[in-house]
Amino acid sequence: MNYCISQREEYVKATAQKIAREKIIPQRELLDEKKDFPYEIIKELADTGMFRLFIPKAYGGDGGGDTELCIIVEEIGKACAAVATTYAASALAATPIILFGSENQKMKYLSKIAQGSLASFCLTEPSAGSDAGGIQTRATKENDSYIINGAKQWITNGGEAEVYVVFAATNPSRGARGLSAFIVEKETPGISFGKIEDKLGIRASCTREVIFENCKIPAENLIGKEGIGFIVAMRTFDHTRPGVGALAVGIAQSALDELIAYAKQIKAPLSLFEQIAELYTKVEAARALVYSTARYLDSGAKDVSVYSSMSKLFPSDVAMEVTSKVIELFGIFGCRRKYAVEKIMRDAKITQIYEGTNEIQKLIIANTLAK
Ligand SMILES: Cc1cc2nc3c(=O)[nH]c(=O)nc-3n(C[C@H](O)[C@H](O)[C@H](O)COP(=O)(O)OP(=O)(O)OC[C@H]3O[C@@H](n4cnc5c(N)ncnc54)[C@H](O)[C@@H]3O)c2cc1C
Repeated sequence: MNYCISQREEYVKATAQKIAREKIIPQRELLDEKKDFPYEIIKELADTGMFRLFIPKAYGGDGGGDTELCIIVEEIGKACAAVATTYAASALAATPIILFGSENQKMKYLSKIAQGSLASFCLTEPSAGSDAGGIQTRATKENDSYIINGAKQWITNGGEAEVYVVFAATNPSRGARGLSAFIVEKETPGISFGKIEDKLGIRASCTREVIFENCKIPAENLIGKEGIGFIVAMRTFDHTRPGVGALAVGIAQSALDELIAYAKQIKAPLSLFEQIAELYTKVEAARALVYSTARYLDSGAKDVSVYSSMSKLFPSDVAMEVTSKVIELFGIFGCRRKYAVEKIMRDAKITQIYEGTNEIQKLIIANTLAK
């Protein structure tokens, strides 16, 4: 089924497919092996206007919303989940500014991201992964500035991004209610970058520590007001979790495409295609959930958290099930490094973890059901 209903969405999809075919697929194996950051591909995405799509029109973007973001992430994700993650992480960091930023912040930072500057979302810390209330990073107000001290870990685009959205405690005694969100520019004295993680999957994306030592930023870089940081993060995830679902759908689809081509080549019996049929149906169901949620978000709906969680939970579990089964059905070939499917399975695992683990998605859905 085709979920693109406008001509523009068709154009976006075709552009992403062309970049995937011509620029990403030929390089993905090497990028993964060497965990090389995909500079050239990101530049191509910027040059073709892909970073403009998720930015509102008033700030130099095309105002494509969540649906177009999902279309691009799915198509790029079919080719390489690391590239899709690098791109989607910028949308993740742009979203708090879109939703809660001041007019000045939007003008200054969204227009930069629309032109292709990478952005980074800095929430996770050693003692604050699933539980954002455990954040130890502090932001202390001094006259017209905030001084940030602390360290974030496992931050996508760390060191590569120009713009950092950072969550820190302004009132530590209030836990999650004492958090605030700030914009920090890469060149600010006091921000530095630690080790690059050597990861299981999405290896060509850059995941790194981001460290703040007496990092002084203007008070005007506070997003919204003090104490709403947790809400900023949660509302952001409402918009971006379907994007993780779209990536998972792209990952699962590419594994199935590899298997179908192989099954045809070896003239596999119909019984193998029957097994593929079941997996194919699950991927289509996941895709339907992702795009109906994205359209619901784009319609301006407010009661979206539970659907956003579902549209991350189900597709990422499907992606893990499908990629693991595809390796099994490929037999020994599935275990060889030179076949794409082993990379695809490693990438799939990550989608169950970031932007809130799937246990946390179940918790969000369960809390709503129990109310
Ligand atoms: C490749 C990659 C890129 C990432 N990029 C970013 C980024 O750009 N920015 C960022 O801020 N973070 C990023 N992260 C971090 C990611 O969001 C966290 O890993 C994730 O939120 C889980 O946190 P944790 O790893 O600390 O696990 P923990 O919170 O320590 O959880 C460990 C386990 O316990 C379970 N658990 C925890 N609490 C509960 C509960 N209440 N109920 C049930 N189960 C529970 C979890 O589901 C999980 O299985 C990235 C992670 C990865 C792997």
